Amino acid sequence: MIHENVWMTYGSNDLAELEKISAGYIDFISNGKTERECTELIVAMAKDKGYKDLREVIDSGERLAPGSKVFAVNMKKAVMLLNIGEDIIRDGMNILGAHIDSPRLDLKQAPIYESDELTYFDTHYYGGVKKYQYVTLPLALHGVVAKTDGSIININIGEKEGDPVFMVTDLLIHLSRDQLQKTADKVIEGENLDILIGSKPLGGEEKDAVKANILRLLKENYDIEEDDLLSAEIEAVPAGRAKEAGLDRSMIIGYGHDDRSCAYPTVMAVLDNPDIKTTACALLVDKEEIGSVGATGMESHFFEDMLREVLDRLGVYSELNLSRCLRNSRMLSCDVSAAFDPIYADRFEKKNSARFGHGLVFNKYTGGRGKSESNDANAEYIALLRGILDKHNVAYQTAELGKVDAGGGGTIAYILSLYGMQVIDSGVPVLSMHAPWETISKADLYEAYKGYKAFLIEG
Ligand code: MN
Ligand code: MN
Repeated sequence: MIHENVWMTYGSNDLAELEKISAGYIDFISNGKTERECTELIVAMAKDKGYKDLREVIDSGERLAPGSKVFAVNMKKAVMLLNIGEDIIRDGMNILGAHIDSPRLDLKQAPIYESDELTYFDTHYYGGVKKYQYVTLPLALHGVVAKTDGSIININIGEKEGDPVFMVTDLLIHLSRDQLQKTADKVIEGENLDILIGSKPLGGEEKDAVKANILRLLKENYDIEEDDLLSAEIEAVPAGRAKEAGLDRSMIIGYGHDDRSCAYPTVMAVLDNPDIKTTACALLVDKEEIGSVGATGMESHFFEDMLREVLDRLGVYSELNLSRCLRNSRMLSCDVSAAFDPIYADRFEKKNSARFGHGLVFNKYTGGRGKSESNDANAEYIALLRGILDKHNVAYQTAELGKVDAGGGGTIAYILSLYGMQVIDSGVPVLSMHAPWETISKADLYEAYKGYKAFLIEG
């Protein structure tokens, strides 16, 4: 544990490394704003390092052995990386698990409508958002439209130079006397988070001429009919790249630090650690922000099923070996934590709060109302991790998510702990978590990377 601000400890080598990982991260989150985009990026990074698609390994009947490196993709929205060590059953695995979904606005299935010569996409927000934060900022549309002929049309509008962007309007201050009397959760109603997409009528149309023009453009530019939007997943996210922040450039502002500021060092730690003794596993999952549900969330059987396939390819598959492998594993649930914010100091209990520049933050437990629904990590496990981090000179801190009864939150930690493995939450402290633009410290990102790497070597 390093008690001083970790910036004070850095020499020129550290600073160079820190800037390198920060630059890579800024690119990663600027290009990967959805679970699908992150999955694609991570698969490309893994292939680059010689990882093979587990599906191809299975189909070809190829054998796996210690030293094999594979990835498995779940419905294009989640991915597992595995670098197989010497004895996956006796030693278990060192697992790093992060999520790659982030709060946003999802288009409804029947999204498009015209009202008073303006045309909109209707949305349903995804995850925990302060709805008033999603008005009057440039939004980009990311996602896919699946057509009945089996083709998939990728949508990415609002990121490239010259692209148009979209926005949700807010009532002008001049007429807001009544609106400003409302409580903050009602100032902007969920049903009013509709995205303005057009205002120009199509000549010759009598009714809904603006919508008609939008439909014409969708057809001409993307070969999409209105009905095709029924089978689409389009996410409206803040438009634009992540950026360095502060006059000292010590921070990064970006969309989706929760949880890509942990997902990125997770992936890099696995890919940068080619020669490990114990099997290294990275889980990058979807749906955490809505409760880890569904086929692509952590509660899905995908992970377990892929492990069955791996044990089979290693020639050691049995249900007993599977449960031993899982039980002998250790996990870092890599998810962000609240950074102490002096402006809202009364929501925190200072000595148990995470601070910018103090490194990787461990949350022994999350939850709320008396630690409810949290994984409460074991003291013995924390001691093991302290030893590893100290040996590798990683700055770390411990925290709770705010003061007692201020609120709470959950992660994927409790799901993996059901296998009887050791699990603890560890991640990067974030300011303005779940806001369209969140902020982290470069130093904490760098320490997370160092910490995850050390865990894979020594865990
Ligand atoms: Mn998270
Ligand atoms: Mn979250």
